[in-house]
Amino acid sequence: MHAATSDNPEARAREAYSLGLLVPKRSLGQNFVIDPNTLRKIAWLGRLHPGDRVLEIGPGLGALTGALVDAGAFVTAVEIDRRLVERLRPMERSGRVRIVEGDILRISFDEILGQDRWKMVSNLPYNIATPAVMRILEDAPQVESMVVMAQREVARRWTARPGSSTYSAVTVRMSYFATSQLLGTVSRNVFVPRPRVESSLVQIKRLPEVAVDPTVAGYASMVELIYASYRHRRKMLRHSLAGWCSQEAFLHAGVSPESRPQELSIIEWGRLAAAIRSGDS
Ligand code: SAM
Repeated sequence: MHAATSDNPEARAREAYSLGLLVPKRSLGQNFVIDPNTLRKIAWLGRLHPGDRVLEIGPGLGALTGALVDAGAFVTAVEIDRRLVERLRPMERSGRVRIVEGDILRISFDEILGQDRWKMVSNLPYNIATPAVMRILEDAPQVESMVVMAQREVARRWTARPGSSTYSAVTVRMSYFATSQLLGTVSRNVFVPRPRVESSLVQIKRLPEVAVDPTVAGYASMVELIYASYRHRRKMLRHSLAGWCSQEAFLHAGVSPESRPQELSIIEWGRLAAAIRSGDS
């Protein structure tokens, strides 16, 4: 164990509260994991090798950060709350941790990640879990895989398969970049304060190539098409895309105009977007 980094997370959290040093901010999703076994398990699920570079979103009190260092990683941790950043600074003395004060939804990834290859392991702030993960997928190709904790319903949505009720527009967007898998649930009892929602762990692995050739159908136009359809998720595509997607385009794409948006995989959205594009030109 690295004494300077991982000491006892439960003791650290309890000390912070008892001294009144830290009133957790719900608006920042501040529920801290205090159970060392859970922290070790999350780090283990990250499949880290000694020397791996790991991005952590929201290190909080540094408990997971310590477990990641114990697993051999060099950690860059982005934390928005200055009170926590100040508490975390001493971890940098180990030479294995870099604390960056900032907002993960705004920070420049090229500045903090450079051109290296990264893994991400994080207990995400639940209120911004989806935009944070999407931003990494869209703007930080350096990050090749993630193990993240999120609210259970959100995790289910991320990992849903076509045809299921939780398969949503964001599921399709994620599957353009990556595959995802539910790894398990985490008890509310391992957090301080105890959250009001259930939590799950998810693994997200970036595909070697995006799922649809961008020269055939651009990502932005595909996203526009997907959201236009999902705005009327109970309607058949021939209704929700009337005036946008012709009968010929459906035929050309091999997509039934009678289908509903949650039945289509990213590959089918790609074919539909490509067919619309070729019909326009
Ligand atoms: N990693 C710690 C743990 O497992 O105990 C804390 C996790 S807590 C669920 C989420 C953390 O994300 C908090 O420390 C919070 O301040 C931070 N956070 C919230 N919004 C953020 C943002 N936009 N950018 C960076 N950090 C953020």
